[in-house]
Amino acid sequence: MRTIKKSKKLDDVCYDIRGPVLEKARQMEEEGQKIIKLNIGNLAVFGFEPPDEIVQDMIRNMGNAAGYTDSKGMFAPRKSVMHYTQQKNIQGVTIDDIYLGNGASELIVMSMNALLNTGDEVLVPSPDYPLWTAAVSLSGGIPRHYICDEKADWFPDIADIKNKINANTRAIVVINPNNPTGALYPDALLQEIVDLAREHQLIIFADEIYDKVLYDGHTHTSMASLADDVLFITFNGLSKNYRSCGYRAGWMVVSGEKRHAKSYIEGLNMLASMRLCANAPGQYAIQTALGGYQSINDLVGPGGRLTRQRDMAHKLLTDIPGVTCVKPKAALYMFPRLDPQMYPIADDQDFAYQLLAEERVLVVQGTGFNCPTQDHFRVVFLPNIDDLEVSVGRIAHFLEGYRKR
Ligand code: PLP
Repeated sequence: MRTIKKSKKLDDVCYDIRGPVLEKARQMEEEGQKIIKLNIGNLAVFGFEPPDEIVQDMIRNMGNAAGYTDSKGMFAPRKSVMHYTQQKNIQGVTIDDIYLGNGASELIVMSMNALLNTGDEVLVPSPDYPLWTAAVSLSGGIPRHYICDEKADWFPDIADIKNKINANTRAIVVINPNNPTGALYPDALLQEIVDLAREHQLIIFADEIYDKVLYDGHTHTSMASLADDVLFITFNGLSKNYRSCGYRAGWMVVSGEKRHAKSYIEGLNMLASMRLCANAPGQYAIQTALGGYQSINDLVGPGGRLTRQRDMAHKLLTDIPGVTCVKPKAALYMFPRLDPQMYPIADDQDFAYQLLAEERVLVVQGTGFNCPTQDHFRVVFLPNIDDLEVSVGRIAHFLEGYRKR
């Protein structure tokens, strides 16, 4: 029999958040072991429930949601996204510029598939949310990673971006607020990236899915509000701000210099048509979510559950000898660094595997986010305070043993 092989297209595609370490965790759970999961930003399973009005509205609309919708999405939710872009000062967005998707994920892949030819390059942050790197590779492009500098609050290194732009560069991805670092970029820095994009005619892919998960009173600026002469594709959705990952409701907004992008937009329209439409119940949730009470603010404000968990996890982690960590200003993650002198890690996937096997704590290794060195891991601070305390205690215990090896 001929062996059945995966497509060569997948040779360079990697998505380690759901990789081999998670597989091991699954096996351990099947054997009855209890694992504390610090590996994935899935809010609802940690008791962060979506706003009740969204759930009730979806239930009420279920009877109307059995048919396909327009391939870009229903009018009312797209209109509410349009109003949202107005609130964020993004100019000139019409209903036609808005695409609803089965989460932002589907649209991220679509946006790359519609754009890239073999050998085209896209600037992607390192570390990144790895779907971006994977989507560029899957679409035949080459991800060129630009440094986000830990010593500078994980901000993108403009000099490095400049160095990596060449004749094949088509676009730059900016994830702000950032997963996995929790960074939030200042306007001046965003403006510098916009200016570079203008100069080199790059498209800006702005992933802003955590734009309401902001601590310490910070505010968020949508990159697309900073210029109307650069093409922006902005991604957002209900998964994080409204704790509704499973509803698979996301959107993408095309704005700015659209006049020269007619062919690309045709490509987007074709791919949107080919997948027929996003799930209709999720679409119904969008309008209610955007127009309703923004309960995320209660979670991220002073004393809110997410704020308390961030503070606690950060303190406990940075109390461990040899562990440093930039305190996140936004999102659900932190990306601690292990001093390589104290913890000489040769293979960080193996490190995460051992931590899981010995301490029943699941994290994702830094290289899973295209981090070039082996000295980071990502922690999701969603488990409740007690579980966070236990899990960071176990990480400390594991690291103590690691030092002695
Ligand atoms: N972008 C970033 C930065 C993310 O962290 C995630 C999910 O964790 C996504 C996009 C995907 O979101 P969605 O659930 O809308 O597909």
